[in-house]
Amino acid sequence: MNQYKTIYKTIKKFNTIVIARHVGADPDALASSISLRDIILNTFPHKKVYTVGTPTSKFRYLGILDKFKEELYENSLLIVVDTPDRKRIDGVDPSRFKFSIKIDHHPFIEKYADYEWIDDTASSASQMIVELVFKTKLILSKEASEKLYMGIVADTDRFLHRYTTMKTFLLVSKLIKKSHIDFTGLYESMYLRPFKEIKFQGFLANNMTVTENGLAYFKITEDLLKEFGVDSATAGNLISQFNFIEEIYVWVFFSVDASSETIKTSIRSRGPIINEIASHYNGGGHIYASGARLRDFEQVDSLIQELDEACLKYKEQI
Ligand code: AMP
Repeated sequence: MNQYKTIYKTIKKFNTIVIARHVGADPDALASSISLRDIILNTFPHKKVYTVGTPTSKFRYLGILDKFKEELYENSLLIVVDTPDRKRIDGVDPSRFKFSIKIDHHPFIEKYADYEWIDDTASSASQMIVELVFKTKLILSKEASEKLYMGIVADTDRFLHRYTTMKTFLLVSKLIKKSHIDFTGLYESMYLRPFKEIKFQGFLANNMTVTENGLAYFKITEDLLKEFGVDSATAGNLISQFNFIEEIYVWVFFSVDASSETIKTSIRSRGPIINEIASHYNGGGHIYASGARLRDFEQVDSLIQELDEACLKYKEQI
């Protein structure tokens, strides 16, 4: 049986289904998990389906989340989307469910679900949900189509990234054809931002350190976030604005997250492979888009050094 059939049959079998995704949710994690719930409910209105995880006010436009309750472990199916390893699952323990499924597009890290569909050539988890729907009897809704479109657009950074493929375009065009969504009308909710964020972006551009080897970095302090009136999540989101700069191969932002007493680290690359380096710091991600949570500024300096060396190696190869 192929992965589509296996997943569809398993969904059909369970009356209660919980859908989870990774901590620090981004639009793809939210879109894929929320739309999968809506699609299952659209197909099987009598099932009980919950999408769980910590809500993010910034991405409210992607829909509402459900509260997880202990009794949901009982006799239910868990589907985890967009999450390669157990420790990054937000809010639930996969081993306590009757059965679990992973649907993920990250490079493989570990097996934690009873059944795993991993496609690290897929642009996004949202793209995998679109594929699953078109290969099974699951029924799309217009709202779910809009969310999935936004998940794909967000994770590919508007079809810019290298893992945007012909399959991405084929699935997206089929999605638009079937659901008649006004896709250009969705960009305002995704990209409208306050002017203070642009000012902060300008500050970062003016003040980031750029090494001779092509590593750009900036240590964002709490005081700076306060001065500009932005939060650490906003700082992380600005990372994608620094692509395609001639002098820069890898760029990284460090921002202090007071609530967890860690340094949230976002790394992007347009050449050197960075996820392996991130894994040395309890982090990970994709080959050109990774993240980590660092303990202190000593670790920050050590990561900067490793990334700078990777830039030098890359520079010597091209
Ligand atoms: P971000 O910079 O937070 O947008 O994350 C970029 C990529 O790295 C995403 O695929 C994340 O899932 C992954 N990532 C971010 N933070 C971590 C972390 N602490 N550990 C493992 N992977 C991470």
